[in-house]
Amino acid sequence: MKKNISLFLLTSILLVSCNTNSVPVTNSGKLKVVATTTIVADVVSQVGGDLVDVQTLLPIGTDPHSFDPTPQDIAKVADADIVFANGAGLEAFIQHLLSSADAEGKIVEVSEGIVLLAPPEAEGKEQAQNAGDPHTWTDPNNVMLWVQNIESALSSADPSNAEIYASNAAAYDAQLKELDVWIREQIDQIPAENRKIVTDHRLLGYYVEEYGLEQVGAIVPGYSSLSEPSAQELAEIEDAIRALDVKAIFVGNTVNPSLGERIAEDTGTQLISFYTGSLSASDGDAATYLDYLRYNTTVFVNALK
Ligand SMILES: [Zn+2]
Repeated sequence: MKKNISLFLLTSILLVSCNTNSVPVTNSGKLKVVATTTIVADVVSQVGGDLVDVQTLLPIGTDPHSFDPTPQDIAKVADADIVFANGAGLEAFIQHLLSSADAEGKIVEVSEGIVLLAPPEAEGKEQAQNAGDPHTWTDPNNVMLWVQNIESALSSADPSNAEIYASNAAAYDAQLKELDVWIREQIDQIPAENRKIVTDHRLLGYYVEEYGLEQVGAIVPGYSSLSEPSAQELAEIEDAIRALDVKAIFVGNTVNPSLGERIAEDTGTQLISFYTGSLSASDGDAATYLDYLRYNTTVFVNALK
Protein backbone atom coordinates (compact mmCIF):
# COMPACT_ATOMS: atom_id res chain seq x y z
CA MET A 1 0.00 0.00 0.00
CA LYS A 2 2.75 2.39 1.02
CA LYS A 3 4.61 1.56 -2.17
CA ASN A 4 1.49 2.32 -4.19
CA ILE A 5 1.09 5.71 -2.57
CA SER A 6 4.71 6.65 -3.26
CA LEU A 7 4.30 5.56 -6.84
CA PHE A 8 1.12 7.62 -7.08
CA LEU A 9 2.94 10.66 -5.67
CA LEU A 10 5.88 10.21 -8.00
CA THR A 11 3.55 9.91 -10.98
CA SER A 12 1.71 13.05 -9.91
CA ILE A 13 4.96 14.98 -9.59
CA LEU A 14 6.08 13.82 -13.02
CA LEU A 15 2.72 14.79 -14.53
CA VAL A 16 2.86 18.21 -12.92
CA SER A 17 6.39 18.86 -14.15
CA CYS A 18 5.45 17.72 -17.66
CA ASN A 19 2.52 20.08 -17.71
CA THR A 20 4.47 23.21 -16.88
CA ASN A 21 5.33 25.10 -20.02
CA SER A 22 8.19 27.10 -18.55
CA VAL A 23 11.27 25.20 -19.74
CA PRO A 24 10.28 23.09 -22.74
CA VAL A 25 13.76 22.33 -24.00
CA THR A 26 15.26 18.98 -24.93
CA ASN A 27 18.50 17.46 -23.69
CA SER A 28 20.19 19.06 -26.68
CA GLY A 29 18.79 22.42 -25.59
CA LYS A 30 16.60 22.61 -28.69
CA LEU A 31 12.84 23.08 -28.75
CA LYS A 32 11.14 19.92 -29.99
CA VAL A 33 8.72 20.94 -32.69
CA VAL A 34 6.39 18.93 -34.90
CA ALA A 35 4.98 20.47 -38.10
CA THR A 36 2.20 18.90 -40.15
CA THR A 37 3.09 19.63 -43.81
CA THR A 38 6.51 20.04 -45.43
CA ILE A 39 5.58 23.67 -46.19
CA VAL A 40 4.77 24.50 -42.56
CA ALA A 41 7.96 22.66 -41.49
CA ASP A 42 10.15 24.70 -43.84
CA VAL A 43 8.79 28.06 -42.64
CA VAL A 44 9.11 26.98 -38.98
CA SER A 45 12.73 25.96 -39.69
CA GLN A 46 13.46 29.36 -41.24
CA VAL A 47 12.30 31.14 -38.09
CA GLY A 48 13.63 28.60 -35.58
CA GLY A 49 17.02 28.10 -37.22
CA ASP A 50 19.44 26.00 -35.17
CA LEU A 51 17.40 26.44 -32.00
CA VAL A 52 14.61 24.06 -32.97
CA ASP A 53 14.46 20.41 -33.91
CA VAL A 54 11.65 20.19 -36.50
CA GLN A 55 9.97 16.88 -37.31
CA THR A 56 7.49 16.73 -40.21
CA LEU A 57 4.40 14.52 -39.97
CA LEU A 58 3.35 14.30 -43.63
CA PRO A 59 5.87 12.58 -45.90
CA ILE A 60 6.85 14.44 -49.09
CA GLY A 61 4.12 14.20 -51.74
CA THR A 62 1.30 13.42 -49.26
CA ASP A 63 -2.13 14.98 -49.75
CA PRO A 64 -2.82 16.92 -46.51
CA HIS A 65 -6.59 16.53 -46.96
CA SER A 66 -6.48 12.74 -46.73
CA PHE A 67 -3.53 12.12 -44.38
CA ASP A 68 -4.05 9.52 -41.65
CA PRO A 69 -1.54 9.65 -38.74
CA THR A 70 0.23 6.49 -37.58
CA PRO A 71 0.91 5.48 -33.93
CA GLN A 72 4.47 6.78 -34.49
CA ASP A 73 3.03 10.18 -35.43
CA ILE A 74 0.98 10.22 -32.22
CA ALA A 75 4.16 9.46 -30.26
CA LYS A 76 6.03 12.32 -32.00
CA VAL A 77 3.23 14.74 -31.12
CA ALA A 78 3.11 13.50 -27.51
CA ASP A 79 6.85 14.13 -27.25
CA ALA A 80 6.83 17.62 -28.84
CA ASP A 81 6.93 21.00 -27.12
CA ILE A 82 4.93 22.71 -29.91
CA VAL A 83 2.83 21.34 -32.78
CA PHE A 84 2.56 23.69 -35.78
CA ALA A 85 -0.33 23.07 -38.16
CA ASN A 86 -1.49 25.04 -41.19
CA GLY A 87 -4.95 25.28 -39.61
CA ALA A 88 -7.92 26.86 -41.43
CA GLY A 89 -9.41 23.37 -41.69
CA LEU A 90 -6.65 21.87 -43.87
CA GLU A 91 -5.72 19.04 -41.50
CA ALA A 92 -8.93 17.09 -41.01
CA PHE A 93 -6.99 14.65 -38.81
CA ILE A 94 -5.66 17.23 -36.34
CA GLN A 95 -8.26 17.12 -33.52
CA HIS A 96 -8.15 13.35 -33.28
CA LEU A 97 -4.35 13.34 -33.40
CA LEU A 98 -4.06 15.94 -30.64
CA SER A 99 -6.49 14.16 -28.34
CA SER A 100 -4.81 10.78 -28.99
CA ALA A 101 -1.47 12.34 -28.00
CA ASP A 102 -2.99 14.33 -25.10
CA ALA A 103 -1.49 17.40 -26.81
CA GLU A 104 -4.41 19.84 -27.23
CA GLY A 105 -2.46 22.60 -25.47
CA LYS A 106 0.53 22.39 -27.84
CA ILE A 107 -1.17 23.35 -31.10
CA VAL A 108 -0.27 26.55 -32.97
CA GLU A 109 -2.19 27.12 -36.20
CA VAL A 110 0.08 29.26 -38.37
CA SER A 111 -2.86 30.60 -40.44
CA GLU A 112 -4.47 32.11 -37.32
CA GLY A 113 -5.60 35.67 -38.10
CA ILE A 114 -5.78 35.28 -41.89
CA VAL A 115 -9.17 36.23 -43.35
CA LEU A 116 -10.19 33.10 -45.25
CA LEU A 117 -11.74 33.19 -48.70
CA ALA A 118 -15.30 31.87 -48.63
CA PRO A 119 -16.45 29.36 -51.23
CA PRO A 120 -18.66 31.17 -53.76
CA GLU A 121 -20.56 28.01 -54.70
CA ALA A 122 -21.44 27.26 -51.06
CA GLU A 123 -23.32 30.52 -50.46
CA GLY A 124 -26.43 29.89 -48.45
CA LYS A 125 -25.58 26.25 -47.89
CA GLU A 126 -24.96 24.91 -44.39
CA GLN A 127 -21.57 23.66 -45.57
CA ALA A 128 -20.34 27.23 -45.82
CA GLN A 129 -19.76 27.36 -42.07
CA ASN A 130 -16.08 26.92 -41.22
CA ALA A 131 -15.42 26.00 -44.82
CA GLY A 132 -13.08 28.79 -45.91
CA ASP A 133 -10.19 28.17 -48.29
CA PRO A 134 -7.42 26.49 -46.22
CA HIS A 135 -4.65 26.95 -48.87
CA THR A 136 -3.35 30.14 -47.28
CA TRP A 137 0.30 29.50 -48.27
CA THR A 138 -0.30 30.03 -51.99
CA ASP A 139 0.09 33.79 -51.29
CA PRO A 140 3.43 34.70 -49.65
CA ASN A 141 1.74 37.71 -48.06
CA ASN A 142 -0.22 35.24 -45.92
CA VAL A 143 3.00 33.43 -45.06
CA MET A 144 4.35 36.74 -43.69
CA LEU A 145 1.57 36.35 -41.09
CA TRP A 146 2.58 32.73 -40.50
CA VAL A 147 6.08 34.02 -39.74
CA GLN A 148 4.70 36.37 -37.06
CA ASN A 149 2.66 33.56 -35.49
CA ILE A 150 5.64 31.20 -35.51
CA GLU A 151 8.00 33.79 -34.05
CA SER A 152 5.53 34.57 -31.31
CA ALA A 153 5.04 30.88 -30.40
CA LEU A 154 8.77 30.10 -30.38
CA SER A 155 9.56 33.20 -28.32
CA SER A 156 6.96 32.37 -25.67
CA ALA A 157 8.22 28.80 -25.40
CA ASP A 158 11.87 29.86 -25.32
CA PRO A 159 12.01 33.53 -24.22
CA SER A 160 15.78 33.58 -23.71
CA ASN A 161 16.25 33.26 -27.49
CA ALA A 162 13.49 35.69 -28.50
CA GLU A 163 15.95 38.08 -30.16
CA ILE A 164 17.30 35.35 -32.41
CA TYR A 165 13.78 34.28 -33.47
CA ALA A 166 12.93 37.91 -34.20
CA SER A 167 16.03 38.37 -36.32
CA ASN A 168 15.44 35.11 -38.25
CA ALA A 169 11.82 36.13 -38.82
CA ALA A 170 12.83 39.57 -40.14
CA ALA A 171 15.38 38.07 -42.53
CA TYR A 172 12.87 35.56 -43.90
CA ASP A 173 10.14 38.20 -44.15
CA ALA A 174 12.48 40.26 -46.35
CA GLN A 175 12.94 37.25 -48.66
CA LEU A 176 9.17 36.78 -48.88
CA LYS A 177 8.70 40.46 -49.81
CA GLU A 178 11.35 40.19 -52.50
CA LEU A 179 9.69 37.08 -53.91
CA ASP A 180 6.29 38.80 -53.90
CA VAL A 181 7.70 41.53 -56.17
CA TRP A 182 9.31 38.92 -58.43
CA ILE A 183 6.03 36.98 -58.80
CA ARG A 184 4.23 40.17 -59.86
CA GLU A 185 6.89 40.83 -62.52
CA GLN A 186 6.56 37.27 -63.84
CA ILE A 187 2.76 37.25 -63.98
CA ASP A 188 2.92 40.57 -65.89
CA GLN A 189 4.30 38.56 -68.83
CA ILE A 190 0.99 36.67 -69.23
CA PRO A 191 -1.45 38.43 -71.60
CA ALA A 192 -4.66 39.44 -69.78
CA GLU A 193 -6.84 37.12 -71.88
CA ASN A 194 -4.73 34.08 -70.92
CA ARG A 195 -4.82 34.57 -67.16
CA LYS A 196 -7.32 31.77 -66.57
CA ILE A 197 -6.37 28.82 -64.42
CA VAL A 198 -8.00 25.42 -63.94
CA THR A 199 -6.63 23.21 -61.15
CA ASP A 200 -7.30 19.72 -59.77
CA HIS A 201 -9.18 21.14 -56.77
CA ARG A 202 -9.85 24.75 -55.83
CA LEU A 203 -6.54 25.61 -54.19
CA LEU A 204 -5.14 28.75 -55.82
CA GLY A 205 -7.66 31.33 -54.55
CA TYR A 206 -5.21 33.46 -52.55
CA TYR A 207 -2.56 33.37 -55.27
CA VAL A 208 -4.88 34.33 -58.15
CA GLU A 209 -6.48 37.10 -56.09
CA GLU A 210 -3.11 38.60 -55.16
CA TYR A 211 -1.49 38.39 -58.59
CA GLY A 212 -4.38 39.17 -60.92
CA LEU A 213 -5.20 35.75 -62.35
CA GLU A 214 -8.53 33.95 -62.36
CA GLN A 215 -9.27 30.42 -61.14
CA VAL A 216 -12.08 29.69 -63.59
CA GLY A 217 -12.73 26.21 -62.28
CA ALA A 218 -11.42 23.01 -60.78
CA ILE A 219 -11.79 19.35 -61.63
CA VAL A 220 -12.99 18.73 -58.06
CA PRO A 221 -15.00 21.91 -57.51
CA GLY A 222 -14.19 22.40 -53.83
CA TYR A 223 -11.45 23.30 -51.35
CA SER A 224 -10.66 19.65 -50.63
CA SER A 225 -9.22 17.07 -52.99
CA LEU A 226 -11.29 14.33 -51.36
CA SER A 227 -14.60 14.39 -53.23
CA GLU A 228 -15.19 13.11 -56.76
CA PRO A 229 -16.76 15.34 -59.40
CA SER A 230 -20.17 14.25 -60.70
CA ALA A 231 -20.67 13.60 -64.43
CA GLN A 232 -22.46 16.94 -64.66
CA GLU A 233 -19.61 18.79 -62.92
CA LEU A 234 -17.12 17.17 -65.30
CA ALA A 235 -19.19 18.25 -68.29
CA GLU A 236 -19.37 21.79 -66.86
CA ILE A 237 -15.63 22.11 -66.39
CA GLU A 238 -14.98 20.80 -69.91
CA ASP A 239 -17.51 23.31 -71.29
CA ALA A 240 -15.83 26.12 -69.35
CA ILE A 241 -12.37 25.12 -70.60
CA ARG A 242 -13.61 25.20 -74.22
CA ALA A 243 -15.72 28.34 -73.86
CA LEU A 244 -12.97 30.36 -72.14
CA ASP A 245 -10.18 28.89 -74.27
CA VAL A 246 -8.24 27.90 -71.15
CA LYS A 247 -4.61 27.17 -72.08
CA ALA A 248 -3.70 24.60 -69.45
CA ILE A 249 -4.97 22.41 -66.62
CA PHE A 250 -2.67 22.37 -63.59
CA VAL A 251 -2.65 19.19 -61.52
CA GLY A 252 -0.90 18.98 -58.18
CA ASN A 253 1.81 16.64 -57.00
CA THR A 254 -0.33 15.02 -54.32
CA VAL A 255 -3.27 13.70 -56.37
CA ASN A 256 -3.86 11.07 -59.03
CA PRO A 257 -3.65 12.85 -62.42
CA SER A 258 -5.92 10.42 -64.35
CA LEU A 259 -9.05 12.59 -64.31
CA GLY A 260 -7.01 15.61 -65.41
CA GLU A 261 -5.51 13.55 -68.22
CA ARG A 262 -8.97 12.62 -69.45
CA ILE A 263 -10.22 16.24 -69.39
CA ALA A 264 -7.06 17.44 -71.14
CA GLU A 265 -7.61 14.84 -73.85
CA ASP A 266 -11.33 15.64 -74.24
CA THR A 267 -10.70 19.37 -74.53
CA GLY A 268 -7.34 19.35 -76.33
CA THR A 269 -5.76 21.30 -73.47
CA GLN A 270 -2.29 20.69 -72.06
CA LEU A 271 -1.98 19.03 -68.64
CA ILE A 272 0.74 20.50 -66.45
CA SER A 273 2.08 19.27 -63.14
CA PHE A 274 2.90 21.65 -60.28
CA TYR A 275 3.41 21.59 -56.50
CA THR A 276 0.37 22.01 -54.27
CA GLY A 277 0.21 20.65 -50.71
CA SER A 278 3.78 19.40 -50.44
CA LEU A 279 7.32 20.48 -51.25
CA SER A 280 9.57 18.25 -53.38
CA ALA A 281 12.37 16.04 -52.08
CA SER A 282 15.47 17.99 -51.03
CA ASP A 283 17.11 17.44 -54.44
CA GLY A 284 13.93 18.42 -56.34
CA ASP A 285 12.54 21.65 -57.88
CA ALA A 286 10.68 22.81 -54.79
CA ALA A 287 12.76 21.79 -51.80
CA THR A 288 11.90 24.98 -49.90
CA TYR A 289 8.77 27.14 -49.78
CA LEU A 290 10.56 29.95 -51.67
CA ASP A 291 11.58 27.49 -54.41
CA TYR A 292 8.02 26.12 -54.45
CA LEU A 293 6.64 29.58 -55.29
CA ARG A 294 9.37 30.28 -57.87
CA TYR A 295 8.82 26.92 -59.55
CA ASN A 296 5.01 27.17 -59.70
CA THR A 297 5.10 30.76 -60.92
CA THR A 298 7.51 29.82 -63.71
CA VAL A 299 5.25 26.90 -64.67
CA PHE A 300 2.18 29.18 -64.87
CA VAL A 301 4.01 31.81 -66.94
CA ASN A 302 5.50 29.29 -69.37
CA ALA A 303 2.12 27.61 -69.93
CA LEU A 304 0.01 30.76 -70.26
CA LYS A 305 2.14 33.51 -71.85
ZN1 LIG B 1 -5.88 21.27 -51.09
